[in-house]
Amino acid sequence: MIRQSIIEDLGKIIKKEQIRLNEPMSAHTTFRVGGPAELFVQPKTEELKEVTAFFRAHGIPYTIIGNGSNLLVCDRGIKGAVIELGKAASEVSVEGTFVRANAGAMLSKTANMAADAGLTGMEFASGIPGTLGGAVVMNAGAYGGEMSQIIKEVTVLTPDGEIKTLSAAELELGYRSSCIAKNEYIVMSAVLALERGDRDKIAARMEELKARRIEKQPLEYPSAGSTFKRPEGYFAGKLIMDAGLRGCSVGGAQVSEKHCGFVINKGGATASDIKTLMDHIIRVVEEKFKVTLEAEVRKLGEFE
Ligand SMILES: Cc1cc2nc3c(=O)[nH]c(=O)nc-3n(C[C@H](O)[C@H](O)[C@H](O)COP(=O)(O)OP(=O)(O)OC[C@H]3O[C@@H](n4cnc5c(N)ncnc54)[C@H](O)[C@@H]3O)c2cc1C
Repeated sequence: MIRQSIIEDLGKIIKKEQIRLNEPMSAHTTFRVGGPAELFVQPKTEELKEVTAFFRAHGIPYTIIGNGSNLLVCDRGIKGAVIELGKAASEVSVEGTFVRANAGAMLSKTANMAADAGLTGMEFASGIPGTLGGAVVMNAGAYGGEMSQIIKEVTVLTPDGEIKTLSAAELELGYRSSCIAKNEYIVMSAVLALERGDRDKIAARMEELKARRIEKQPLEYPSAGSTFKRPEGYFAGKLIMDAGLRGCSVGGAQVSEKHCGFVINKGGATASDIKTLMDHIIRVVEEKFKVTLEAEVRKLGEFE
């Protein structure tokens, strides 16, 4: 239970409008599920250091989220504070062939600004519904592109409250992974290195990728994108389909009929429904094909 006096003290660092109590996480995740965060804050980039120092000083655990597009938050909710790096921390600027963006900037906005400036290299990311911070953490990628190909450097806040700038090599970027979570870093901003290109070609490529997403993905339902990572030598969606799990459901959670790699919220799903379905998928695919699927979606909170 977070005391009222703590909220009042926090209100001396950030505005009251940036602080919410018992905020439903279903409003902040693309799965549209998840119980309440005891405390929910939306700081600006320059407030982050003081806010995290405040939580540490008061022994309040905190979790960082971006757009919640790769998250499964448990139904009971999250103890302590959730720090959302979103709109309040979303400045983007273009300097020559470099794009500098704060963690909360949406990839779509960043990619559009790059495209408007005639810079190529970020088209692949324009349809990924996450923030720049989340994309660095996940080394997000699509259609042959990956954040690792364009990151020049990333500025992080360390758990000791130090602000450090790391090169792409220091981020240990792998398939949908980086060293950010392991080191408890918070991404504050990043510089992306792009190249000069033809504006019309960039716009056409972004349109083409958008059309492919609309055609292949169940965008009409809440989801967190691909539920599982691609196992080496296979495609998760095909394994799930071949295992006979197309349309398989638990409560309101369902294996998408359009794309079996997506678990969707068909309506009224709980986090527990989704987790139970994911476990079932892993079990069945393992039995049939001896391949162990690994979740790409990150779980937050306590699951049974
Ligand atoms: C319809 C749909 C399509 C998708 N398509 C793709 C795709 O093509 N390719 C792909 O890679 N992904 C895809 N995704 C998944 C998702 O959009 C990406 O993983 C995205 O990068 C997550 O960003 P986010 O801001 O939503 O992060 P969140 O989901 O909020 O967080 C993801 C992880 O990063 C951490 N985190 C977030 N921000 C920070 C920060 N600033 N500092 C430290 N830690 C942080 C969180 O704690 C969590 O562990 C898709 C999702 C959906 C819903």
